[in-house]
Order: sequence, then C-alpha cells, then structure tokens
Amino acid sequence: MASTRVLLLGGTTEGRALARDLVTLPGVELTSSLAGRVRHPEALPGEVRVGGFGGVNGLMAHLFAEKVDLVIDATHPFAAEMTHNATKASEIVGVPLVRVDRPAWKPRAGDRWHETDTVAEAARLADSIGTRLFVTTGRQEAQAFAGVRAWCLLRSVDPPEPPLPARHEILLARGPFVVPEEIALMADRRIDCLVTKNSGGGATVAKMSAARELGLPVVIVRRPPLPPGLQCVPDPEGAVDWVARRLVP
Ligand code: NAP
Repeated sequence: MASTRVLLLGGTTEGRALARDLVTLPGVELTSSLAGRVRHPEALPGEVRVGGFGGVNGLMAHLFAEKVDLVIDATHPFAAEMTHNATKASEIVGVPLVRVDRPAWKPRAGDRWHETDTVAEAARLADSIGTRLFVTTGRQEAQAFAGVRAWCLLRSVDPPEPPLPARHEILLARGPFVVPEEIALMADRRIDCLVTKNSGGGATVAKMSAARELGLPVVIVRRPPLPPGLQCVPDPEGAVDWVARRLVP
C-alpha cells in the first residue's frame, strides 16, 4: 500500500487525540502542525512541524512541496484565520480537507449567559456586571481586559503579556479541569462573573458547570463563523473514519 500523507492542523485536545489515532493507522504518514504559541507543548506522536506557513500562499506551497494528500483542520474554534487559510489553500490545490468542529456549548436551565461577538466586548460587559472576574479567554487576548476596573483572575497555559488589568492574579494551568476544583477556585477567589469563549468540548467545560452551580453570570464570546461549505465532523473518531475512507490504494 502506498502511503497517504496527512497534514493535521492542531494545537487542541482533538489534535492530540487524532495524532495518537492516526499514527497507528496503516498507510498513513502523519505530520502535525502547531502554531508555536505554547512554550512547552505536550509531546505528540508522529512528525511535528512548528510555526505559520505564511498565509494562503505559504500553505499552498507547503501542500505542493510536501505532496500532502489530505488535510485535517483540528484547530481551535476561535483560530478563524488558520481555518480560513486551510479552506482556501486546500480548495485551490485540490487537496481534500475536513474540519474537526467540536459542538459549541449550549445554555442550560439555570444558566445566566450574556453573549458577545468579541473578547473586547466581553471585557466591557463583564466589567459592568461583576467586580471579581474569572477570565479564561486565553493569553493572547488578556490585553482586552487592561482597562477594566474589576479585579481579574487570569487563567492561561502560558503567562499573559502586559498591559494587564490594574488588579489581577495570574493562574497558569492547562485543562482538563474538574467541577469540584473549579467551584472551590471560584468560591475561594470570590468570583462574581465568569468570562469565556464558547470553545465547546469537555476539557474546559467544568467551569461552566461550576458557574451554574454557584449561580454566577457568564459572559461568553460567540464563535466566529466557519467558511461556507466546509466539511465538518464533530470529533476525532469522525476524522479517522474520513481518512480511512480516503487512503491511497
Ligand atoms: P489564528 O489566529 O487562526 O492563526 C493566525 C496564524 O497563526 C495563522 O494564519 C497561521 O500563520 C498560524 N497558525 C495558526 N494555527 C496554526 C497551526 N496549527 N499550524 C501552523 N500555523 C498556525 O490562530 P490562533 O487563534 O492564534 O491559534 C493558534 C494555535 O493555538 C492554533 O493551533 C489553535 O488551535 C490553538 N489554540 C487557539 C485558541 C484560541 O482561543 N484562539 C485556544 C486554544 C488553542 P500563517 O498565516 O503564517 O500560516
């Protein structure tokens, strides 16, 4: 059997799970791609490349040069630029692409959601609702909170860079998180409002359950739209099936 060269755009829980599954699939030659944002990414099986491709043109050149047969976009729901570039480049080069799009979280009975379209809007709204914010929108956008009056607990994998809120605490942590510890953390820091992106998935959902149990308002950023016509599967298993059906004979 000839080998099928798969480029996996990752940086997520799904990307790591897929890498583990795809390296065991006979006939697959896997390369995972990471943006290089996290200082110490978790080890991945298979080949790994790090850093941007250089926009749509750079990705097209990479697909040609590396003779990529299939592309899987398992990037985060808020990594809209990478998803857009992958869609365009795959379409032009004619390489099949699938996106692993984990379902978004949905409000449940008892939830007090306030939805926004951007992190900047979320920061302003949360500052008008709470005085002690639990900010989980990620290191890259922590600066959106620089001007808030509220005290902020900023949680991210790597330290956020200034400017940061005048009064804050930084908590470095990587999911998955569990509900009792999230409740204990929020109670201990006297959090009165949670700020999050609608990332979906299981690794960071515990904070949503904790906020519900504590009766706290949640300011939640809606996902950016996906490119029209993009083929999606909801989980890594769906992507493994998709690859298995397209192996080069
Ligand atoms: P983004 O805004 O969509 O992408 C900006 C640029 O970063 C892309 O145009 C591309 O550069 C490069 N890039 C992004 N993902 C890449 C990948 N997997 N491999 C190679 N280059 C990549 O992305 P982002 O929101 O900064 O996310 C960066 C990474 O962090 C992604 O892997 C994503 O899955 C992960 N992540 C993001 C979030 C979030 O909230 N945004 C949360 C958790 C994890 P070029 O144009 O030069 O190719």
